[in-house]
Formats: sequence, structure tokens, C-alpha cells
Amino acid sequence: CGQCVAYCPTGALAIRNDVDKVYKAIEEGKYVIGMVAPAVRASLQEEFGLEDDMAAAGRMVSLLKMIGFKKVFDVAFAADLVTYEEAHEFIERLEKGEKLPQFTSCCPGWVKFAEQYYPEYLANLSSVKSPQMALGAIIKKFYAKEIGVDPKDIVLVSIMPCTAKKFEAEREEFNGDVDIVLTTREVVKIIKSTGIDIRMVEPEPFDRPFGLSSQSGLSFGKSGGVLGSVVNVINEIIGIKNIETKQISEGVRLITIELSNGKVVKGIAVFGLGNTRKIVDSIKAGELDVDIVEVMACNYGCIGGGGQPYPNDVRTREKRAKILREVQSIDVLISPTENFHMLQLYERYLNKPLSHEAHEVIHTHYKHRRRVQEEEIDILPLPEESED
Ligand code: SF4
Repeated sequence: CGQCVAYCPTGALAIRNDVDKVYKAIEEGKYVIGMVAPAVRASLQEEFGLEDDMAAAGRMVSLLKMIGFKKVFDVAFAADLVTYEEAHEFIERLEKGEKLPQFTSCCPGWVKFAEQYYPEYLANLSSVKSPQMALGAIIKKFYAKEIGVDPKDIVLVSIMPCTAKKFEAEREEFNGDVDIVLTTREVVKIIKSTGIDIRMVEPEPFDRPFGLSSQSGLSFGKSGGVLGSVVNVINEIIGIKNIETKQISEGVRLITIELSNGKVVKGIAVFGLGNTRKIVDSIKAGELDVDIVEVMACNYGCIGGGGQPYPNDVRTREKRAKILREVQSIDVLISPTENFHMLQLYERYLNKPLSHEAHEVIHTHYKHRRRVQEEEIDILPLPEESED
């Protein structure tokens, strides 16, 4: 994303190539596990001319296994988990009337932006880790034991639409749970280098238990998905009488929810850091009164991420959103609360939402960071933006 490239002073700016690290881990006999973000499958379908092929994600799973991945999981599973936890966190804050509005925290481009420009709102960010980092922690802490593999021998490869996720995986608070982050462009390179026509490959489902996801989990790939998923869980827990949505401007959508207890809750889904700045400034000035805010740094959300194949323009993003909606529509689970493997994870390890155990493994904290000087921002390249 041009936006997060512009605001990222971390080195994620330099578009790194981590493909060789994956081949090295396979050659060294490491237990290589892949996990694939929702937005990646939409652009893979488009990249390989598989727009109407609902089994495209399964073909990618097979191909990754052919080159030496032992397991391939779905990050949409972790999106269900994160939503479930985040919805409980939001309900608790509503009841206590504190740390509102709650901001989502699954986009590292936005988290970094908040750490640099809005430190006064860091306590308002959901403390739940992003799906990538939550699944990384669960695999290294619990799954490794279950399969009898030393976590040191596991190399966890996250396949993301996003260059900022490379930086996120390296943040010291995450203890290196995710070892390598590949962008969609890098995984396309791997698939092409096999010389195998992906259309000819028999699809294989994502591995269990972290291969199961709901329509909500998959919706994390585009703007509005996280907020919509949280609303789904709130509906299960409290009940919702009525929902109204209103497009305020390009990239800003307001949602007004009447809960069954009579309370009215307002949420905003915003994409693009320019839009985000305006929204947060309005909240700060007391001009905008909302309870929950979903922020995605990239236009249209992760489907427009900086690691996605080119072109990454408006038309392509709309096409990816359509593919993702179609992929979602064939998923039989609607809400995260129906994901029984996620619920099992609570029974076995996490106890219940917001428990001490859940805080230990899938929550994090944020810190105030040095600001990028405005002059630095002006001279940074914005490769994707020029294509819009
Ligand atoms: Fe990454 Fe998605 Fe955030 Fe863009 S919107 S920076 S792709 S997490």
C-alpha cells in the first residue's frame, strides 16, 4: 500500500525478498508450516486466471505441500479467533464506559501510524494481536507440543498481501513467533518457479484444526470485514434489533447498531491513512462520536495491500473484492461463534475470552514511537498510488 509505505520508517519500505529463506528452511529439513491470509487467495485467483475457480486456494495448498510445506493453515481461522476476543473486549469496554472508541489493531500499518501520531489513543486500540501473530503464538506454544515438534524446528511462513506484516513479525513483543512473511507477489514467484500449472493441481483443503473459518473470518480481507465480524459476534452475545449503514465518503462508512437492550452503538470503517487522520482528528476535536473504529491503511483494505500483484489499481481491487465475496459465500459457517475448532481452542487452552490465559497468548501492547518527519514522508516513493 502506498499509504503504509509512506508512513513506514522501519525498513518494510524496502521491498524485501524472503523466498530464499523458505527454500533454505525446507532444505535444512525444518518443519515448515504455511498460513495464508484471506486477501491472498483473491489475488491468486486473478493472477492465474482462476476467477471462477472456487478451489483455487486448495490448489495453492497442494502446491505448497509439493515443494515441502508440512502443513498449510488458514489465517481466516485466526481472524475468527481475533474477532471473538475483540468483540468481548468491546462489550466489556462498553459496559465499563472506558477506552472508547475502541480501535481495531489487526493492520500493522495503522498500529504504527497510531504509535507515531496518536499515542494518546494507544490505550484505545484493541489489545488483541493481529490474526497473523495470534496464530503464530498458538502454533508455537500449543500446536508444536501436540505434534511433538520442538518449536525451534518449526519455521512458520505467513503468506500475506502486505509488506508491513514483515515488520510486524519482527516486533520484539512477538518473540519471533512468525519466522518468515511472504507477500502474495513472492508466493506467486514460488508457484511459477515450480513449472507446474496450478490449474492442473488437485485441490487439497487447509489442514485442521486451523483450517476452518467462517464467512466473517474470510471477510477480514477487505475494508469493513473486521467491523462486520465483530457485529456478528455482538449479535450472538447481546442481540441486535436494527443496523443502518451509511457511506460518508470514499473509504469512510458509518454503521449504527441498535442493540436488543435498547442501547445504540456507532461504528466507523475507514480505509487509507489520509481518511484515518481526518476521522481520528474529528474524534479528538469532539466532532465525531463513535464507539468502535475499524482502520485499514490500504485502499479497500488488504485486497489492496502493498504485497499484492500488479496492477493494484481501483478496478483490480474491486475485482478482488468480488472474488472474495464469492469465496465467502460458499463457506457454510457464517459467524466466528460457529467455528467449533476455535471454540475447542478455548476449551483446551485459552479458557474463555479475556481470560488470563488468553491475555498471555493472544494479546499484546503498543508503544509510542518516533515520528517520521513530514519532509521525510514527502520524499518517499509511492509506487502503488501512482497506479490508481
Ligand atoms: Fe497490511 Fe492490510 Fe493493513 Fe494494508 S490494510 S497495511 S495489507 S494489514
